[in-house]
Amino acid sequence: MEANYFKDFFSRSPIAFSCQKAIFDNEGMPYDYEFLFINEAFAKLMNIQCASSVHRKFSEVFQEVGRENLVKKTLEYTNTNLEATHFDLYLDQDSKWIRIHMFPLHEHTFGCTYFDVTKEYMLVQDIEGFLKVNIDLLCVIDLKGHIMKVNKAFERILGYKFEELQGNKITTLIHPEDVQASKQTLKKLKDQKSVSNFINRIRGNDGLYRILEWHSETIGTYIYASARDITETQKLEMQLYKNNESLIELTEKLERKNKILKDLAIKDELTGLYNRHYLDQWIDQELSRADREQQPLSMIIFDLDHFKRVNDIWGHPVGDEVLKQTAHLANRLIREPEFLVRLGGEEFAILLPGSNLKQAIHIAETIRQTMEDYKYPIVGHLTASFGVAEKKNSEKFYCWYKRTDKAMYRAKEAGRNRVFCSDDEDRPLNAPIKFVWKSEWESGNPKIDEEHRELVEQANSLVSLSLSDIDDDKIIPKVDTILNNIIEHFRDEEEILKNVGYPDYEKHAEIHQCLLDKVFQFKKAYQCGDLKLSELFSFIVNDLIVGHILNSDSDYFPYTKASHKK
Ligand code: GH3
Ligand code: MG
Ligand code: MG
Repeated sequence: MEANYFKDFFSRSPIAFSCQKAIFDNEGMPYDYEFLFINEAFAKLMNIQCASSVHRKFSEVFQEVGRENLVKKTLEYTNTNLEATHFDLYLDQDSKWIRIHMFPLHEHTFGCTYFDVTKEYMLVQDIEGFLKVNIDLLCVIDLKGHIMKVNKAFERILGYKFEELQGNKITTLIHPEDVQASKQTLKKLKDQKSVSNFINRIRGNDGLYRILEWHSETIGTYIYASARDITETQKLEMQLYKNNESLIELTEKLERKNKILKDLAIKDELTGLYNRHYLDQWIDQELSRADREQQPLSMIIFDLDHFKRVNDIWGHPVGDEVLKQTAHLANRLIREPEFLVRLGGEEFAILLPGSNLKQAIHIAETIRQTMEDYKYPIVGHLTASFGVAEKKNSEKFYCWYKRTDKAMYRAKEAGRNRVFCSDDEDRPLNAPIKFVWKSEWESGNPKIDEEHRELVEQANSLVSLSLSDIDDDKIIPKVDTILNNIIEHFRDEEEILKNVGYPDYEKHAEIHQCLLDKVFQFKKAYQCGDLKLSELFSFIVNDLIVGHILNSDSDYFPYTKASHKK
């Protein structure tokens, strides 16, 4: 009964069983087995018939299913191990790994169990395969830092065989300077924390250190660490860093050079002032900005008077020095955003963003006066002639420039050392900004001279009036006051001329009358809108007052002077 249970137990067990007896040759060596018992699970595993295989030889049964190697393998273990043993066999046909546990039952009789361990093998193989093909350095370390396993890449890159490393402490390979930090990292790992991007230097078998970047994790009692060799990358990075530094240095040098070149292109070498190129660059954006923002923009052009003489008398280097000093003088009298440009030769321009004509004239007059007062080393006093114009709305640069330049030339024509503004401005007139009393205007008669001085002052006040924003209805009363003064003066002058015996006194009185007739016609024309205010003012200032004193009056000066001496 019991025997039946055992039999059933083995027959029906899902574990493959076999029981066999060794067969010996004449020399007492086993060369085959005879099956004494097998179960269904075994028959299925080996693909043999269960019932018909019993009492047959291994070699016969297995030959039928092409598993001759099973006989040989099993016999090897019978030869060497009479104790219980186990070994793994690969079944080619089935691509299976079988683990066979063999244990002696009686003399020459063995029992065997068979387990399919293919999955286990696959797993190990997978791991080995992955370890082998991984290009990173992989290693398994125990919690005390002993090396338990390394992969091929680890061996190849550091030049060690696993056998040389097995059981050694990883810290023995670490660069002394990195040991401290590495120990701290190991401690973190022991606390089951994962570590990423940890970098240290590990000594290779050749004594050289490689820079490794580690990613590690602790699972159970082992630390699984993967490292990438970043030695070359680091070297490259260092090189790149160095290259970058020298690149920055080079760029800075280049920028400095570029600035010098740029300065050379836009600056005048002699005076250090901006040149015409700069003006061209500047003007494009500034012109449209002034229009857009409805901001005034004015220009002064000035040119040294009789500068050629300086060169002729003192030589070119002294001339150069004068140009430098002039640049310096003018520059001191303007401020940002105004700037001075050397247009060429002894001609300069000042750009005055934000300044209207009146303000620009004021600056020009200040510079003119300063230059007149200044004593240049060696050369002494020099003067310059100035033209001023405010840019009109939407006016092109060329027109504006032309107007300014023309004003400067008119200042030259009018006797130099004066400021003229463009003649087609609405208000300003064709006259210097300020008349300065000259000794050659002295007639010798105190009354005439006093009245002449007074009239010159009134001419000056008319000029400044023309630049101011005075209302039109206040202009005529002013004009009338001046005209009354002139009439009075003409009367006084005619009286004096008669008294001093000036022979052409009547002719002179006719000129007076003629001028007065004309000025009243002009006034009427202005009031009817046929004449610009600037034309009326110009006539009063240039013809009636200054022009007359300079031209006609000087004819009688000998008589008034002679009479005064008496
Ligand atoms: P005006 O009052 O009509 O302007 O007379 P000017 O003598 O100043 O004018 P002109 O145009 O006849 O002469 C200008 C001179 O300036 C001639 C030229 O040799 C000289 N010049 C131009 N550029 C330079 C320079 O860079 N250095 C020196 N020293 N002289 C220069
Ligand atoms: Mg010139
Ligand atoms: Mg000149």
